[in-house]
Amino acid sequence: SAKREGRNRVHVFSTEIQAENATQIELENHLRQAIKYDELEVYFQPIYDVKTEKIISAEALLRWHSNKFGNVSPAVFIPIAEESGLIVEIGEWVIKESIRLKQQFFDLHHPDLKIFINLSSRQINHPQFIDHLTLILQEHKVNPYDYGFEVTETMMFDNIHYGKKILQTMKDLGLTLSMDDFGTGYSSLSTLEELPVQKIKIDKSFIDDIDQKPSKQTILKAIIDMAHALDLKVVAEGIETREQKNLMQALNVDLIQGYYYAKPLPATDFLLHLEEKMELKEKMELKEKMAF
Ligand code: C2E
Ligand code: MG
Ligand code: MG
Ligand code: MG
Repeated sequence: SAKREGRNRVHVFSTEIQAENATQIELENHLRQAIKYDELEVYFQPIYDVKTEKIISAEALLRWHSNKFGNVSPAVFIPIAEESGLIVEIGEWVIKESIRLKQQFFDLHHPDLKIFINLSSRQINHPQFIDHLTLILQEHKVNPYDYGFEVTETMMFDNIHYGKKILQTMKDLGLTLSMDDFGTGYSSLSTLEELPVQKIKIDKSFIDDIDQKPSKQTILKAIIDMAHALDLKVVAEGIETREQKNLMQALNVDLIQGYYYAKPLPATDFLLHLEEKMELKEKMELKEKMAF
């Protein structure tokens, strides 16, 4: 398939440079055809329970293996998809594809793995968003409790009342909601109290230099304590080192995601990662039993 070729082809120039030299319009025109040419792929990054160090969920992250530009970063093509409105169609594809991959690869041995999907403002503000979402869930015979969506506070800026209504409808359907990118921009705990979210995700930019900045640790501790007081679970993203992981444990973070554990992986690789972790755990348990 085009996907595979895109990944295996040898590039003379770095794919980043190819995308950089392209104009927004060129990228947009190719992105418009990306679904048709089978250039999009959903990757999964594991999210770990801090205490048990078990994988309990995964974030679906979109990848574009462009035949023309090589692998284009989401940081480049997601904003283009949002500005052009393509995100509505692409976002729906991501939801369907995430469900398909979960059912094909994870459900047999890992039925409890919960999948989190990112949403853009343009998507939830589309008048048919809830109708389409409900239909997708029905058509795929999905248990809504197996899925969650990551939303951002900036999504609420246009019309907080409408946004709140949409999120509440999603929650009523049984879906979990997580507030992404917390700690960037104007994140405030007062909006959190207003919005029907069950989780907050502390942004990577907030974690990056935290081991060197005691003041940041103090702020994070206050955020975590208040989130817990509001009955919200706290996820830390972008954990890259053992020091950061230990610090998150000490600060009472509930869930952790980051390169320290694993990068976003194609579904089949993610499955291998799950099985490896399971095997390791079974071996450890066996070892413990044998010691007695
Ligand atoms: P996000 O939702 O905040 O996702 C987290 C980003 O941090 C991902 O980047 C992930 O690969 C990266 N990351 C996770 N752990 C680490 C780490 O330890 N170190 C480093 N350096 N990075 C880490 P990615 O996949 O490039 O996605 C970037 C952004 O693009 C996402 O940020 C999200 O806002 C958007 N995005 C990706 N897929 C979708 C999608 O399907 N729909 C929408 N609407 N947005 C998406
Ligand atoms: Mg996210
Ligand atoms: Mg995030
Ligand atoms: Mg982020």
